[in-house]
Amino acid sequence: MSICDIIIKKRDGGELSQGEIEHFIGGYVAGEVPDYQAAAWLMAVYFRGMTPAETMRLTEAMAFSGETLDLHDVAPFILDKHSSGGVGDKTTLVIGPVVAGLGVPVGKMSGRGLSFSGGTLDKLESIPGLNVMLKIEQFKKQLREVGLVIAGQTQELAPADGKLYALRDVTGTVPSLPLIASSIMSKKIAAGADAIVLDVKVGEGAFMHTDAEAIELAELMVKIGRGLGRRMAALIGDMNQPLGLAVGNALEVSEAIETLHGRGPDDFRQHCVDVAGEMLLIAGAAESPAAGRAKAAGTLVDGSAWAKFRQFVGAQGGDVAFVDDPRKLPQAPVVRPLAAPRAGYVAGLDAGEVGRTVVDLGGGREKKGDPVDPAVGVMLAPEGKVGGHVAAGQTLLWVHARTDGVAQAALARLAAAYRVEDEPVAAPPLIHHIIR
Ligand code: URA
Repeated sequence: MSICDIIIKKRDGGELSQGEIEHFIGGYVAGEVPDYQAAAWLMAVYFRGMTPAETMRLTEAMAFSGETLDLHDVAPFILDKHSSGGVGDKTTLVIGPVVAGLGVPVGKMSGRGLSFSGGTLDKLESIPGLNVMLKIEQFKKQLREVGLVIAGQTQELAPADGKLYALRDVTGTVPSLPLIASSIMSKKIAAGADAIVLDVKVGEGAFMHTDAEAIELAELMVKIGRGLGRRMAALIGDMNQPLGLAVGNALEVSEAIETLHGRGPDDFRQHCVDVAGEMLLIAGAAESPAAGRAKAAGTLVDGSAWAKFRQFVGAQGGDVAFVDDPRKLPQAPVVRPLAAPRAGYVAGLDAGEVGRTVVDLGGGREKKGDPVDPAVGVMLAPEGKVGGHVAAGQTLLWVHARTDGVAQAALARLAAAYRVEDEPVAAPPLIHHIIR
């Protein structure tokens, strides 16, 4: 069968067989299928979708495109989490140390920024020296010795996802249910976790815009994981406005550090506690959801999550002086405020537009392989979140940019992304649904 026939079959709405999917994925990983054919195939999947059975076949082909880890010589039970992507979503930087700080090993394969959503690997690389491209032996050694490891795909682990992820990012093919499900679940399966908690985001700053879509994605991933013998749970979390206050790589690392010290924005801290609580529950380390949340919250005040984060940064080659004093992290030379156009209540802030603005500031990629600028981003004022009350002229947020011209363009876009109204507005619920 030719690759072109496989593209045509999908373009015309056909269901691909296991053999066809394996042939395509195998050829792409081997470098025999060029990016232009893979991009055409991705666009065909984007428009035509896949059946659940087809998505399962794609997930397996991607998961087994490289080696798969068996971590049971390292620890009897490995826990993992994954977010479907959002704006200001730095949850892994806090949740990993919280859970590992309680003695439950977390071995995690993360991603880079994707479209308008940030990526854990790009955030971590704002810490000088920190290496996310680990060999399997390094991954295992750190999991054994530290109990927390966060790494990216390599040639060895889920290479198909590594290549397709970067291509989707620059071809407008990210928000596709089968492509997201197979991307996330192939990484999780390859990295050898026994239990996986999915943090599926919904709203303007997520790839799923309605609860119905987000639940369909979550249920599909839960089904794929259970079909492959994993314990699974999923939370559907709000992403209509950014999570926390910081959006941008180094700014988000600083906010995660604040949170690990028991401070940080309430919504972000609570979201981390909710997801970590579910992880402890599924791992059998908490008897109830409430007990899981209480244990997780405790690690943020007793210093154990912070101690685990520091240990993790050092083990992965990062310079701990930069996390001990986050003012040393990369800083943008230009910081400009956005003033509220009038007095009133913040009724909306389009998180997708905030994410796209940060990409254009240099915090994300326009083309495959582009470098990202760790220093740029957006910092919201606490009153600049939905439900906040502002006086006319009060600062809603600050843009962190390389030049004044770029900052002014960003401010104009962000002004249009805000809605300020006369009537009080309630802050949105953080978690819309939980699947256990
Ligand atoms: N996270 C991933 O790993 N893949 C996606 O497609 C979206 C979010």
